[in-house]
Amino acid sequence: MSEIPDYLKRGYITPGELFSIIPKPSEDRLRERPVAVPECPQEIPCAPCREVCPTGAINMPTPNDLPVVDYDKCIGCSLCVQVCPGLAFFMVQYVGDRARITMPHELLPLPERGETVVLLNRAGEPVGRGKVVTVVPREKSRGDTPIITVEVPMELAWDVRAVRVEG
Ligand code: SF4
Ligand code: SF4
Repeated sequence: MSEIPDYLKRGYITPGELFSIIPKPSEDRLRERPVAVPECPQEIPCAPCREVCPTGAINMPTPNDLPVVDYDKCIGCSLCVQVCPGLAFFMVQYVGDRARITMPHELLPLPERGETVVLLNRAGEPVGRGKVVTVVPREKSRGDTPIITVEVPMELAWDVRAVRVEG
């Protein structure tokens, strides 16, 4: 019987573990435009991300395979982030000395554009503060998840994956 990976026992994956499973986008690519990165390490029968992608950037031969993004084909449309039922897709872009992280945000209230929010890592721990730069509310006809984009210090680009709105 194969050993259960640490990230499954822990309940979240570290950046090092993630990039041992999928390739990390290059810095040049991260500076060019937003790029979608799946954090979906379990082989579960699920594929709405692949179905919604307009450019065929998400490689997944069968719904049981892990999604792997062809970063050159990704246009940063964010549909995979909105449609993923597991809240497992994110987008990252490097802008100057900051990083912009696009993430699902299911909890109410939704923050407002320009609002300062508490940045949370994958364990749900506060790691700093950042500014919300875009908010896309739920697309009612499809029931998609609301998404937000938050600007964070560069050193937190691969740690921040949620926010807390202080209201
Ligand atoms: S952001 Fe758009 S183009 Fe990129 S992988 Fe997701 S759905 Fe495909
Ligand atoms: S939609 Fe989300 S949970 Fe389903 S395979 Fe894609 S990334 Fe994984």
